[in-house]
Amino acid sequence: MDFALDEEQKEIRDWVRTFVRKEIIPLEPEVLRRERANQPGLTSEELDALQQKAKKAGFWGVQTPTEYGGMGMGAVMTALIEAELGRSFVQFRFGGNADNILYHGNAEQKERYLLPTISGERKSCFAITEPGAGSDAKAIRTSARKDGAEWVVNGEKTFITGGNEADFVMVFAVTDKEKGANGGVTCFLVDRDMGWKSEPIPTMGQWGPAALVFEDVRVPEENVLGEVGQGFAMAMQWIGAGRYLLPARAIGSVERLVDMAIEQANSRVTFGQPIAEYQAIQWMIADSAVEIEALRWLVLHAAWLVDQGADSRQAQSMAKLYGGVKANEIVDRVLQIHGGMGYTRELPIERWYRELRLLRIYEGTDEIQRRTIARNLLKGHAKVSGSLG
Ligand SMILES: Cc1cc2nc3c(=O)[nH]c(=O)nc-3n(C[C@H](O)[C@H](O)[C@H](O)COP(=O)(O)OP(=O)(O)OC[C@H]3O[C@@H](n4cnc5c(N)ncnc54)[C@H](O)[C@@H]3O)c2cc1C
Repeated sequence: MDFALDEEQKEIRDWVRTFVRKEIIPLEPEVLRRERANQPGLTSEELDALQQKAKKAGFWGVQTPTEYGGMGMGAVMTALIEAELGRSFVQFRFGGNADNILYHGNAEQKERYLLPTISGERKSCFAITEPGAGSDAKAIRTSARKDGAEWVVNGEKTFITGGNEADFVMVFAVTDKEKGANGGVTCFLVDRDMGWKSEPIPTMGQWGPAALVFEDVRVPEENVLGEVGQGFAMAMQWIGAGRYLLPARAIGSVERLVDMAIEQANSRVTFGQPIAEYQAIQWMIADSAVEIEALRWLVLHAAWLVDQGADSRQAQSMAKLYGGVKANEIVDRVLQIHGGMGYTRELPIERWYRELRLLRIYEGTDEIQRRTIARNLLKGHAKVSGSLG
């Protein structure tokens, strides 16, 4: 067993670390100021300029296959990169990526949707959740009825990330009510100018998802992504493929937060000594460090299974669950160590506190991850000893 990163992994990680330190972290005060004035932290022009800067150094399309101009990085490397990006709350991501299911498109769809998404000319969003169907995604009711050479889509989607900015949506609709999720759900590529509308949903964090409304939206039949009836499997593939990336990003956030807590503990004096001298504070720091280490291994192990082409579902659910729960406990401790200052808007801790809360909800809530983990064990699909035991 080899726990060491190879030279290339270290080099890439260090490049991203330096990029974050030099290009992203200095933007934080201005990003905070804007967000608190209800403006976007980074404008799309600023994000684009940063992405182009990274592109000059070869950072473009981290997971995009090399034949599409990307870096074709594996899961472990991508997780290491995400952890570095997570060290700042600025919502930066490298350019040049497209949703994995767009690769299911035929040649024409790739030309119209996949390639412009990779190049950054077009923006997509992924819409399965509905007001009546979140965790229970099989309960979706948005429908698509065939009418000649077109499908007519009706329904409402909610909490769609990027739904306000997207110019096309991958939307999931019931095309056969009898079959439902078992062969009766289809994915459609629907341009905004085909007639769907979006409305921002205010949230406690900086993620501004959208509600989407489809009222008799007519979609040409050539805009079915994949096969008619195979949409549900595709949706699960989209969600399952990158679950490890969410807790990966959290690793960087909690590392930085605990660094802040250590600094505060060493410098804040009460009753004549630094609070670092008190066992209550030491235990919070120790527990956080142990949990960050455990999270790092859970994430990297899940990513490693992805790279091996092995079944990674149990490992990804475990990493996502642990990451969500622990990141929230850690940010709470860090806030506590900062006392009243932790609660103010002078420091970014409250910003992370609100943002990290989302990790326990989207792409499968804590409860849904626990349900998956327990079911796999109870039905014998996974062992308590895991893949290394
Ligand atoms: C900011 C944000 C961005 C999002 N982005 C997208 C997106 O881009 N595309 C998209 O399609 N969706 C997106 N979502 C939707 C997200 O995936 C859902 O919110 C999530 O799956 C939970 O569904 P729900 O909100 O309907 O909660 P519900 O399913 O109503 O759950 C409510 C509570 O009941 C619990 N619960 C439900 N079923 C069970 C069970 N069987 N056992 C135990 N407990 C259970 C849940 O864990 C939760 O605590 C986003 C959500 C948010 C908040």
